[in-house]
Amino acid sequence: MDSKNIIIIGGGLCGLTSAYLLAKEGITTTILEARNRLGGRIHTLRKDGKAPIEMGATWLGKKHHHLLDLLDELNIGITEQFMGDKGYYEPMSVSPPQLVDLPPNEEPSYRIEGGSDNLINSLANYPDDNQVLLDQAVTSIRKNSNKLEVETNNDLFKADTIINTLPPKLLMDSVAFTPKLPNGLHKTAHQTHTWMAESIKVALTFQEPFWRKPNSSGTIFSNVGPVNEMYDHSDEHQSRYALKGFMNEAYHSVSQNDRKELVLKQLRRFYGDKADSYCSYHETLWKDETYSFAKYDNHIVPHQNNGNPIFQKPYWDNQLFISGSETANSFPGYMDGAVESAQRTIDQIIEKV
Ligand SMILES: Cc1cc2nc3c(=O)[nH]c(=O)nc-3n(C[C@H](O)[C@H](O)[C@H](O)COP(=O)(O)OP(=O)(O)OC[C@H]3O[C@@H](n4cnc5c(N)ncnc54)[C@H](O)[C@@H]3O)c2cc1C
Repeated sequence: MDSKNIIIIGGGLCGLTSAYLLAKEGITTTILEARNRLGGRIHTLRKDGKAPIEMGATWLGKKHHHLLDLLDELNIGITEQFMGDKGYYEPMSVSPPQLVDLPPNEEPSYRIEGGSDNLINSLANYPDDNQVLLDQAVTSIRKNSNKLEVETNNDLFKADTIINTLPPKLLMDSVAFTPKLPNGLHKTAHQTHTWMAESIKVALTFQEPFWRKPNSSGTIFSNVGPVNEMYDHSDEHQSRYALKGFMNEAYHSVSQNDRKELVLKQLRRFYGDKADSYCSYHETLWKDETYSFAKYDNHIVPHQNNGNPIFQKPYWDNQLFISGSETANSFPGYMDGAVESAQRTIDQIIEKV
C-alpha cells in the first residue's frame, strides 16, 4: 500500500491523533482541514497575554483513559478545575441570588495544562512528514475502481485510503459520495447528534480575581440566565484571570451587544460593579460554526446513535473509514471519544497494511 495516500478529513483531535498514531508506525498522511486553524471543537483563544480561554472542549475526568494516556505520552499535565467552597445559585428571577455551599466534588474535573490547544499543537508538531493543509473544505469523494478522489473547495486529491473525522451528520450534509453510501449508514448518520454543537460559550478576562473570596468562588448556577453556569477560568499559574460559562441557547437570536449587556447585568447581581472591570469579553455561538454544526430536520436526542457499530466498519472495500468522537464506544462526543475512535480506526488500517 502506498502509505503517502492516506487522506484524513478534518484536523480536529481525532484527525490529528490519527495522523500521530500512523506517524508512529512510519506511515505519513495528508490532513485536509476546512478551517484556517486546527482543533475543530477544541478552540483556545489567546489574546494579549490574558488567560487562555477555551471556547470549545475544556474538561476531562480521571475516567477518560484514552485521553489521559495520550496526554501522558505527550508529557502534557492536567490541573484540577477550581470550584471553591461556595458559589452563587439563582433559582428564579423574582428572588435574589443565593450564596450556597458547594458539596465536595467526588469526581473533580481537570483541565489540560497550558490550554486544550496544547494537545492540538503537540500532535500537530509531532516530527514527521505529514502534510496538514488548511482551508481545504472537502465537498465530494469519488471511488473509481480502487482509486479514490477527494475534491475540496480548492483542489483535487487522490487517495488509497480515507479516514473521515467529521461528525456523522455534518459529513452527510456537506460531502457528496459517489457511489452513494449504504442507506443504513446515511440514515443513522443523519440521526446522530453532534455533541455541544448548539452551545454558546461566554468568557470574560479580568486583571484581578475579585470573585476568589471566602464567600464566593466564580462558580455560578442559574435558572434565570442568560448564563446557566459559570466557573473560574484562570490559568494554572493563577497569574491570569477569567470567568467562563455557558449561555442559554435561546440567546442565539439576540444581538451580540444585547447578549453582552445581559451577561454583565447578571454578573452585577453577584459581584456588583466589579463585573464591569473586565478586560475582554468573548463568546462563541457554535451553531454559527459551519464546520461543526449541522442543522437537524427533527429533534435529535443528545448522544443518540453515538458509537453505533454501523460507523465502526470500513466501507468501499476497506478504503473508507468513518471515525470521529461520535463514533466511539466510550465517552462518544467527548475528547476521550475522539482519541478512542482514532485508535480504533488506526488499528483497523494497520491490520489492513
Ligand atoms: C462548546 C463545546 C464544549 C465542549 N466541552 C467539552 C469538554 O469540556 N470535554 C470534552 O471532553 N469534550 C468537550 N467538547 C467536545 C469535544 O470538543 C469533541 O468531542 C472533540 O473535540 C471532537 O473531536 P473530533 O476530531 O472528533 O471532531 P471535531 O473537533 O469536530 O473535528 C472535525 C474537524 O473537521 C473539520 N471539518 C468540518 N467539515 C469539513 C470539511 N468539509 N472538510 C474538511 N474538514 C472539515 C472541522 O473544522 C474540524 O476541525 C466540547 C465541544 C464544544 C463545541
